Amino acid sequence: MAEKKGDIGLIGLAVMGQNLILNMADHGFTVVAYNRTVEKVHAFLSNEAKGKSIIGAVSIEDLVSKLKAPRRIMLLVKAGNAVDAFIDQLLPYLSKGDIVIDGGNSEYTDTQRRCKELEEKGLRFVGAGVSGGEDGARYGPSLMPGGHSEAWPHIKSIFQSIAAKVDGQPCCHWVGSDGAGHFVKMVHNGIEYGDMQLIGEIYHLMLAIGLDQSEMAYIFEEWNKGELDSFLIEITKDILKFKDADGKYLLPKIRDAAGQKGTGKWTAIAALNYGVPVTLIGEAVFSRCLSALIDERQTASAQLPGPTTKFSGDKLKFLEDCRQALYASKIVSYAQGFMLLREAAKMYNWSLDYGSIALMWRGGCIIRSVFLGQIKTAFSKDPTLKNLLFAPFFKEAITKAQSGWRNVVSTAVNIGVPTPALSTALAFYDGYRSKRLPANLLQAQRDYFGAHTYELLGQEGKFIHTNWTGRG
Ligand code: NAP
Repeated sequence: MAEKKGDIGLIGLAVMGQNLILNMADHGFTVVAYNRTVEKVHAFLSNEAKGKSIIGAVSIEDLVSKLKAPRRIMLLVKAGNAVDAFIDQLLPYLSKGDIVIDGGNSEYTDTQRRCKELEEKGLRFVGAGVSGGEDGARYGPSLMPGGHSEAWPHIKSIFQSIAAKVDGQPCCHWVGSDGAGHFVKMVHNGIEYGDMQLIGEIYHLMLAIGLDQSEMAYIFEEWNKGELDSFLIEITKDILKFKDADGKYLLPKIRDAAGQKGTGKWTAIAALNYGVPVTLIGEAVFSRCLSALIDERQTASAQLPGPTTKFSGDKLKFLEDCRQALYASKIVSYAQGFMLLREAAKMYNWSLDYGSIALMWRGGCIIRSVFLGQIKTAFSKDPTLKNLLFAPFFKEAITKAQSGWRNVVSTAVNIGVPTPALSTALAFYDGYRSKRLPANLLQAQRDYFGAHTYELLGQEGKFIHTNWTGRG
């Protein structure tokens, strides 16, 4: 009897790959598993995969031969060279119409290139953002596929069945052509950096006003019942509560130097490249860089004085202000993220559906929150919405949060607690709502020293140079 052929092949048996395979098998798909280090295939088949509809492959040729046509092969390997290396190994065995999916955290520019290269060979390439970490991969990730649109009907049922569901709807939709899926995933990760930085700044302020960890945990638990209800607030509460084997809290013992793998940085770079003021994610990336200067910070802490002012206000009122500041800053951060998506969509001709992007992030992924439901609603009500800040729901929320937000930022400045993300969000808000900014002076300076010219108000398009010094 002929051996049963696999519905999909998956290369890469690290955390993400193994869990996605198990998730696919649970949903009735037969998966062929392969890994560069083949011992991991055997180990997987005799342990986690035992008794499930999972077939092992010992080589690329073996993997391809065990799949139904058109072949669907998903890579979950280290982003970068490993992806290109596997594509090169696959090419001799693939046939026209076969589909290669990269589920790693690849740079969208690499995905654009791979889409083009594979299309020229008659193959269909998909760059799919996968979010939710180990647990998400196992029980329902958020999936953001983009690339060759003809691939979508062939992978839709697998992707939508394994994805997280919110109100019965899968957190997975076709995002757009070439690198759109990976771009959206990159912005998701950037927003994740921003959300984490905001929560970190609030934690810092809580420390500065003298809250103990159980009080902090209680506050985050309360906040998680309202408009800030989200995965990151929930895990922060758990982390704050966690005690080590010695009965003491673990958190204060952790070295305060943040790591990063690059997706936040890529988002900030894309924002700079496309001229979109995604200031909060930028600050979140720089804050991780500053935290990593741990030795210099030790020296500086002994030498550079800060203010002597201590917090002396009403703690409960200040904590409510912190909640408002966190909420308002989060609104600004998402508004900035969607501004970046809009600009990239214009640049690359992607017809992004912002409501469905919010829905994809609503469950399964690290930034999942109730708040994303409001974003989805805002874009459903007005798909042409220029900026989230104009949506009545968010306009009202920021208006309500404003005075607490300003109090938190000014208090932080006065007591010397760094709050770059909370502050930049407020600065952006004030800049965005400014009818006039001091850029007229910048233009005059540019013209003064570099004859860069300027336009007069009401005479746009007419460029003028002035001899500012009267010298010839
Ligand atoms: P990973 O640690 O990023 O990568 C390990 C896998 O890549 C192994 O299968 C390894 O094979 C293979 N690999 C590494 N270098 C290779 C090379 N030069 N040539 C061929 N294969 C190579 O695994 P992961 O954490 O499961 O992540 C997989 C992908 O998903 C990554 O792109 C990651 O950024 C992305 N992602 C991860 C998470 C997460 O929470 N971990 C969440 C979302 C997305 P060997 O076993 O032979 O070394």
